[in-house]
Amino acid sequence: MKTPEQPKLDTYLQHVGMAEFDPHSGAAPVALPPYRASTVRFESLAALEQVGPRKAKGERAVRYGRSGLDTHAAFEDAVCQLEGGRHAYLASSGLAAITLGFLSFLSQGDHVLVADCAYGPVRTLDKSVLSRIGIQVTYCAGDVAALQDHVTGQTRMLYVESPGSLLLEMLDMRALAAFAREHNLILVTDNTWGTGGIYQPLALGADVSVIAATKYIGGHSDLMLGAVVVSDDGLAAQLDETQYALGYSVSADDVWLAIRGARTLPLRLQQSAASGLAVAQWLQQHPLVERVYFPALPEDPGYALWQRDCRGANGLLSVQLRCSRAQAKAFVDALTYFGIGYSWGGFESLVQLVRPEQLAPHSYWTGGDHALVRLYTGLESCDDLIADLSQALTQITAK
Ligand SMILES: *Cc1c(COP(=O)(O)O)cnc(C)c1O
Repeated sequence: MKTPEQPKLDTYLQHVGMAEFDPHSGAAPVALPPYRASTVRFESLAALEQVGPRKAKGERAVRYGRSGLDTHAAFEDAVCQLEGGRHAYLASSGLAAITLGFLSFLSQGDHVLVADCAYGPVRTLDKSVLSRIGIQVTYCAGDVAALQDHVTGQTRMLYVESPGSLLLEMLDMRALAAFAREHNLILVTDNTWGTGGIYQPLALGADVSVIAATKYIGGHSDLMLGAVVVSDDGLAAQLDETQYALGYSVSADDVWLAIRGARTLPLRLQQSAASGLAVAQWLQQHPLVERVYFPALPEDPGYALWQRDCRGANGLLSVQLRCSRAQAKAFVDALTYFGIGYSWGGFESLVQLVRPEQLAPHSYWTGGDHALVRLYTGLESCDDLIADLSQALTQITAK
């Protein structure tokens, strides 16, 4: 039985970031305003000098605006609650949060294992930055059997994403956590798919959870934001120091929008996920569909892990079509409600025609030349989305 001190997530998200009452009038707006600040002004030198000792005690005390004030603190709390962690560090985008994770825990000469299903731009980070500063990366399937062949004396970190970005393959997070402990590796996971409390890798043994708040938390396709969440104080200290040293800073306006998005996150997620499942089931029956990738489908190979570890799904799915790439292009162009664009998690449905070179490095991909389309179901009526897919699929038969 939950006590009032531990409200359910939906309740918590309506009460985080509320403005404090003015001691004189006893009144306040409901929502905390965006506290925009570069300079933090202190009442006295004594107050300024208290910042260090307060920080040492684990309080969120700030000397300067780069770290953000109350609005940031409220959102950090919300992110900790969503991920089941104790410390959150914000970054200007999901990719910046990923970068913060790598640079906080790795040094020259270190080796990191990366699951080959991870978000594509991680490879760009590797090519453009990590390789230049002497951090070596090995990509392989995100399962223990494959990973253990690649551990070296220099391996410090295991970086995974479950479910994977393009094919939504579920990884066994508990097994990965046991493997990481056995080899003394920091297990970092991209949990953008799971934000909203549907998947909590930290509770399954991961050390670090990285999220793009750009997606479901923002929820309205109008802001970029990321966060790194941990429970361990030592890892938190490394993140704190690196975030400061790299000069990371996030606008209070964006954080304020993210808090606003977080309040309706559970509701939006529910609607988007219900449509995702309905669309996945509808597509599964269609003669032009070879395979649907969606871990909440009983036919998906990740279904058992999804049932064991997740409290829900979302609106992301991939579809392998029985057609040429040219036909798949015609299909995508024929869609009305699914906008052509990267990203997901907003109110509007989206479609992306996945390029063969994006798929090639994924060991989970066995589809050869098949066209793969990634869909995101937003908040439109599901009937309209299915009707849209149905009419666009006739483009394939027409060619
Ligand atoms: C979008 C995304 C990111 C990057 O987030 P940005 O805010 O766009 O930089 C990282 N990981 C996953 C899984 C994503 O979908």
